[in-house]
Amino acid sequence: MRIVSGIQPTGSLHLGNYLGAIRNWARMQDSMEQGSECLFFLADLHAISMPHDPAELRAATLEMTAALVACGIDPNRSILFNQAQVPAHAEMQWLLNGTARMGWLNRMTQFKDKSGKNREGASVALFTYPVLQAADVLLYQATHVPVGEDQKQHLELARDIAQKFNNDFCPDDAPVFTLPDPIIPPEAARIMSLRDGTMKMSKSDPSDMSRINLSDHPDEVMKKVKKAKTDPEPLPSEVEGLAGRAEALNLVAIYAALSDRTVADVLAEYGGQGFGVFKPALGELMVETLRPITERFNALLRDREALDAILARGAARARAIAEPTLAATYEALGLVRG
Ligand code: ADP
Repeated sequence: MRIVSGIQPTGSLHLGNYLGAIRNWARMQDSMEQGSECLFFLADLHAISMPHDPAELRAATLEMTAALVACGIDPNRSILFNQAQVPAHAEMQWLLNGTARMGWLNRMTQFKDKSGKNREGASVALFTYPVLQAADVLLYQATHVPVGEDQKQHLELARDIAQKFNNDFCPDDAPVFTLPDPIIPPEAARIMSLRDGTMKMSKSDPSDMSRINLSDHPDEVMKKVKKAKTDPEPLPSEVEGLAGRAEALNLVAIYAALSDRTVADVLAEYGGQGFGVFKPALGELMVETLRPITERFNALLRDREALDAILARGAARARAIAEPTLAATYEALGLVRG
């Protein structure tokens, strides 16, 4: 089994990023059997498909790398790298552009969503983004790709491209590409703002009190939890009792996610208690869970050399795995590579 998965580098990482995305990667890595491997990459090449600030992209790439390692991605067990250091991604995308059809890309709903009313002003990269995604996984002969609902269509496209390329350019008994299968990632928690239980916790919320940052000091974490918006009612004993109580539900859901329990299970313990009891318990759980992560994260952020070394080594391993497939692709297309 070879799993390939990418994440766009973003900065100002918070509890929502951890519980909703990063933790799942660490769990995927930890559940791999002997002989299987995970390639995790920072999708910095994808990031340039939208307007972006170069200095922010660089900082976010390093920050995300630090967060991934701090949250348990082991660069010895998994292959962790950023696309920009593996030119084969960009090369493979170009080679696959010859196989991908305009009609296929025109059907991609994400392009329609992201370009909105400004289709003519969208970058070409945004349009061909799914071909780069196909390159990302086909390059490594990925057998499995974790995909959420919004990415299913792009994986289908990758399979279509692989199939057409194999049909058009390869003998039946020697296809260049493996068709990757989707795996449904473990259900990710959706963490809401501490100030408004109907809004997602986000780095773009102007209030820092709305989120727990991965870089927050334990005192800060505790303060934010204690000041989190709630209502005057005690916690119910049953899940149904949280209906219409978005803030209460969010805090219980965070507790459940952090302790790997169900909301019902947490309510069975805390039902009837007020927030005067629940908030300190949640704060402590959060501090204890995040403390080792935050310490490692902040230490890595201060150690640029260590981060560079992790990415360089990951990229070297990725390039080595990619090379035979890249060579076979050039060869199949009749390109003289020297
Ligand atoms: P933000 O909303 O802070 O800008 P991003 O859009 O950069 O976050 O998200 C990066 C990753 O973290 C994505 O995989 C996204 O699904 C996940 N994520 C972000 N915010 C949350 C949240 N509040 N709850 C769960 N997952 C989240």
